[in-house]
Formats: sequence, structure tokens, C-alpha cells
Amino acid sequence: MLFYFKFIRLPLLLCLLGPTLAMAAGEVNLYSARKEKLIKPLLDRFTEQTGIQVNLVTGKADALLQRLQSEGRNSPADVLVTTDAGRLHRAKEAGVTQPVHSDILASTVPSSFRDPEGHWFGLSIRARPILYVKGKVDPALLSSYEALTDPKWKGKICIRSSGNIYNQSLMAAMMAANGAKATEQWAKAFVKQFARPPKGGDRDQIKAAAAGMCDIAIANTYYLAGMLTSNDAAQRDAAEQLAVFWPNQQGRGAHVNISGAALTKAARHKENAIKLLEFLVNESSQAWYAEANGEYPVRSDVQPGDLLKAWGEFKMDRLNLGQLGELNPEAVRLMDRAGWK
Ligand code: FE
Repeated sequence: MLFYFKFIRLPLLLCLLGPTLAMAAGEVNLYSARKEKLIKPLLDRFTEQTGIQVNLVTGKADALLQRLQSEGRNSPADVLVTTDAGRLHRAKEAGVTQPVHSDILASTVPSSFRDPEGHWFGLSIRARPILYVKGKVDPALLSSYEALTDPKWKGKICIRSSGNIYNQSLMAAMMAANGAKATEQWAKAFVKQFARPPKGGDRDQIKAAAAGMCDIAIANTYYLAGMLTSNDAAQRDAAEQLAVFWPNQQGRGAHVNISGAALTKAARHKENAIKLLEFLVNESSQAWYAEANGEYPVRSDVQPGDLLKAWGEFKMDRLNLGQLGELNPEAVRLMDRAGWK
């Protein structure tokens, strides 16, 4: 565990520029629930351009949040990065973040993807549409998440457990749109459509669908993108059997979540931290996200990569994602009552 939390000194082009600049520019400390390979290339670029050294700690979101809370004002962390809005909201509620007043962030990040009080900002968008097996499902028969309780999909749906934050957030978004009561009714019917008791992660739902276990899988698109571009032929073959259907296009739009970041309350390198956040939403960082992570840029003036473009443009649910966090505890109880394992 200790090793897990050790700060990784990022290699610096800086060494070539000389130590004086490094000392002048200073550093910034990051706690990241985002995997190292999905953020470090950007941090290296930031260091190259600014001379600011980034010290990175990666870990599970809940563990990092707990750590921030127990360290309190002595925390070395300046920035917290997580891969869903619910946990950023939790960090805000726990009192370990502070508002950022940045014209760049406010004008670049659409309002639904940032905290109204400036405590957190989305850095990339992650979509959770309906995936279906090509040739087995006529996409003309699909329409919305709500319509997946239709008898024709009985025993044909693969989705992971209710313990997963992505499903909890999907549920919270449905509660915001349809109300808690209707969503609970829906969840009770939805659970009866499952092809098998929930198990595994999003990739496992895609694999199960490809293996004939179900016709429909719910998964975040970056998993499908990751499998399609995998070195592993089995993953590529599985993913190639599925297609993306964007649900709720007639209504509120497809469910999305964000990866995002917050400035910690204890931040000692506040200026550098804000510089880093602003850097992460600049055009070239956003283009990198879209290309390397299979996620959607948070800014609309940056195009997603070719693979994502091939899935077509879609309407996103514009619910303020802070709602996902606010409704999370109720969403969890609701799924429990619905018998969603
Ligand atoms: Fe994920």
C-alpha cells in the first residue's frame, strides 16, 4: 500500500533546461484515481512547457479521498483527479476541496460538466450507451434506457453489478429525469431482463455479448474503443461484434459522466494547480484525451478521434453532473430494493 501511494517523480525535460528554472517554477502534487498511463503523458507535457514539476500519486478514488480526509490541512495534495463526477461531489461534500475562480475553466468547460460553485471541473466525457450485437439486434427496435424493460429483451441484457459507480450514476441520472418512484419501478423490471447475475467489469459484458450470452450490453464506450484497438486478437474480435446505439436521442440524451479534477482545500501550490487544470482543458490536451483515452473532449471545439467519430454524433444528457453525486445514496438504496446484485 505504501508503494502504491509513493509519489512518482516525473522525468523532466527540465533537467536539460537546468535546475534553476525547476526551482523557480516549483511543483504541484496530484492525487489521481486515473491510471498513470492515462494521465502521465499530459503531465510530462505540462512540465516541458511550464517547468513545473508534477508529483503523482495514483490509487483508487475512495482510498485517495479517505487519505485526503485523514491528512486534512496537512495533505501534500494540491489536485484530486477522479474518473467520475459522483466522487468529485463526494470530495466537495467532505470539505477537502476549494472553489477555483478561473475564466479559462469557466469558459471552456460547459456548465453541466463543472460544479456550479467551482469545486470541480470535467476534463473528459465518458459515454455509457447501449451496445448491441450486430446481426442479432435490429437497432430500429432500440430507443431508450427506459425501453430496455420491453418483453422482447427478456434475458438478453448484460450489465455489471449495482456496486459499480457507473451504474449508480446512470440510475441517478434516470432519477433526475423520471423521479425516484418511476426509476425504482423501472429498475425492478430491468433486473428481470438480465441474461445472468451481474459479474465482471464493462469489458466482461462486451465479451459475454460477443460469446452469445446476451444481445445487449451496457458499457462505457472507451472500453469498447480499448478493446477494438487492443493487441489481443480475442478482445478485438469480441468488440467487433458489437455496435453502439445512442439512447434517448428524442429526449434528454445519452447518459454521460466525466473524469475531472478539483483543487484541494489544503493546496500549497494553488497557482501551479490552477495552471495545471487550465492546461488539461487546452486544445491540445483535449485532443490527446480524445485520441489516447477513447473519451470525448469536454470542449465542443475539439473533435474526438476517428474511432469515436465513426460511432456518430449524439445528444448528451445535460444534467449537471453534481446531481449524480447528490442522488447517489438514494440510487444505491433503490438498486438494492430492486434486487440488482
Ligand atoms: Fe472505467
